[in-house]
Amino acid sequence: MKCLIVEDDFTARKLMQRYLSSYSDCDIAADGVEAIEAFRLAVDDNAPYDLICLDIMMPNMDGRQALKAIRQIESECGIAGLDCVKVIMTTALDDSENVMGSFREGCEAYIVKPVAKDKLIEEMANFGLIEAVSK
Ligand SMILES: [Mg+2]
Repeated sequence: MKCLIVEDDFTARKLMQRYLSSYSDCDIAADGVEAIEAFRLAVDDNAPYDLICLDIMMPNMDGRQALKAIRQIESECGIAGLDCVKVIMTTALDDSENVMGSFREGCEAYIVKPVAKDKLIEEMANFGLIEAVSK
């Protein structure tokens, strides 16, 4: 499995990497611009991501703009249905405008920081990316 962690905060990025590295190859992007670049490269290389963990508050381009751009690229490339990347928003923002807006823009899950490893793993299992782990 291949995932992209999009996060501008170094500590949060390291934490996410630690949580995910035993399940997945992890690439890192520090803002929305890098995220789109990484996403496009992966599609062009025929090695798309299975999962993107996407922060919202980031410089240059925020996570919601990046999400819209990623869904746009998928639709332009004819990527649809189950072939679409699973996107989990991982953010400190918990207001309904951001939560509802992100789902409208095409995320599959929304985790409010601090991200709990259990929650993250549970969502990955829900998507069928990993086998469900019994606690
Ligand atoms: Mg941030």
